[in-house]
Amino acid sequence: MSARKKDVQFQAEIANEEQWWEALSTPGLFVVDVYQQWCGPCKAVQNLFRKLRTECGEDFLRFGVVDASSVDDLTIFKGKCQPAFLFYLDGKLISVIRGVNGPLLQRTILQYVEEQKKRVELGSKYKLKVKEIFLKDCEESRQPSKPVIEHSKNTDGLGSYYVVIVKPDAVAEGQVQTIKTKAVSAGYRVVAEEERALNENEIRDFYKEKADEPAFVEFMSSGPVHALILTKGEKMDDRSLSALTEMVDPVQVELIRPKVRSEDGQEVILEVCGDSRELASRQLGFFFPSFDFSSGTMGKTDSRIQRTVALIRPSLVKEKKNEILQAIHDAGFKVAMQKEMTLSEEQAREFYKEHEGKDYFPSFINHMTSGPVLALALTKEDAVQHWRKLLGPKILEEAKEKCPESLRAQFALDDVPINQLHGSSSMGEAERDLKRFFPVEHTLAVIKPDASQEHREGIISRIESAGFSISQVKETQLTREMAENFYKHHRDKAFFNSLVDYMTQGPSVMMILSKENAIAEWREMIGPVDPEKAKEVSPNSLRACFAKSILENTVHGSSDAKHAMDNIQFLFGDVCL
Ligand code: GDP
Repeated sequence: MSARKKDVQFQAEIANEEQWWEALSTPGLFVVDVYQQWCGPCKAVQNLFRKLRTECGEDFLRFGVVDASSVDDLTIFKGKCQPAFLFYLDGKLISVIRGVNGPLLQRTILQYVEEQKKRVELGSKYKLKVKEIFLKDCEESRQPSKPVIEHSKNTDGLGSYYVVIVKPDAVAEGQVQTIKTKAVSAGYRVVAEEERALNENEIRDFYKEKADEPAFVEFMSSGPVHALILTKGEKMDDRSLSALTEMVDPVQVELIRPKVRSEDGQEVILEVCGDSRELASRQLGFFFPSFDFSSGTMGKTDSRIQRTVALIRPSLVKEKKNEILQAIHDAGFKVAMQKEMTLSEEQAREFYKEHEGKDYFPSFINHMTSGPVLALALTKEDAVQHWRKLLGPKILEEAKEKCPESLRAQFALDDVPINQLHGSSSMGEAERDLKRFFPVEHTLAVIKPDASQEHREGIISRIESAGFSISQVKETQLTREMAENFYKHHRDKAFFNSLVDYMTQGPSVMMILSKENAIAEWREMIGPVDPEKAKEVSPNSLRACFAKSILENTVHGSSDAKHAMDNIQFLFGDVCL
């Protein structure tokens, strides 16, 4: 027996069409590794597969390996560098995973084994929750609809740039150099490049319109992508635009065209595919955080990204919240977390205790507690210093006189003698302020009964990719009494009875999620209660992606700290967090 045969003996080795069709005619789940002759089956997953087969049993799970060139149906995989794993249930193709992604393979296998076990338990009346797919469609879903190009008529003489993202399979096939050579010979200059593996969450964030196409997300996370910034260093005309479009193969690359124009000779605005300026700079900042589009150079390579806390005081929040957020954004800061809160007198006194005893202290505390403040966690290179510098002097008269451009001068309010903005003065103080305004919080997340059957894995993986830790998890079917109690504040609503019916129809997954600012972030991630509204205002939210109706809306999240504590206590009892 050859070494390779020995390695794969628990996987049926399929050598021809006849064996292929025979393998597919056996009922149950069949997971087959489609490999290239020159590299052989994927060794990296064999231990995992062997373990899963022992755990799940041969009746529920079989494995195979097949050379992509030995079966006609598999020719679309011929010549690809990364393996493809095809999942067949009772001979029908139900899933394709490209690339070696152990956790995803394991999750998918276990999910389908679970389905079969349910079928055995409940008999023929159980309808399998799987959908047949076709190889042709899978291949099509990997093609970008169209290279994304936006042509600007208004480049105002500043350099113009394209961002070219070489996709994982082209990177694996060594196409990056070829693409660069082509670009250079067509007169473009590569001014920056970066290779990066994107996780699923980053992909959904970056490619918002494709966030709910699992095949696309899976494909883009199957290996590193390579991002390039290309420029011709002059205004691009229609001809250079089409030259680049023709030069790059949309199957291999995604082309993004940032508009670059000057507003006042200083400021640079970027737009990608008609999206907002905020999104554009976030998208590009993701790959090239220190690239300066006005000078066309990379910033310092020893970037020292820091976090600091900005506090917008109540009067400014009330009068010019959007304007100040815009100014912060324009100055190149990213808002990593934000929270509006009304400080109690005790909190305000504690926060400003070093000013205690000063004559202005009482009126200052009055002001700070007069309405909600907006706390922001800002990130940028040397954020602490930059933010302090941008704020200007603390005394308003001095700010207006000596630094009229500073934010404190610009955002001084006529009838308020107190400056409206605070910033941590050192990195140590920033850490203290972060803990104070964005402490690690715990919140209750519930995957409601229908979604816990249909989307559990997807939702949990998005929770994890968003950086939450799941401190506790359990599956529980609420009794009517529990559901009535859980939603007691809705007792007099017309939908109360249907809500209780819905929540008691099967087990829900209950989780305690922990993270800085967990309560607000989880609420943001689930989106508005009504999925129609969610699709409009937060299309990437869980409710926009998965909810069926305002009632059957997939997930629950505590709305504030008190509800979180009460709900956690109600469902988990006294837990030590
Ligand atoms: P949540 O905190 O975002 O879940 O929203 P609410 O506390 O307002 O509502 C609790 C749950 O009741 C929602 O998640 C829905 O399942 C359901 N619900 C809320 N509003 C309506 C409504 O107008 N009609 C129906 N049928 N169900 C609703």
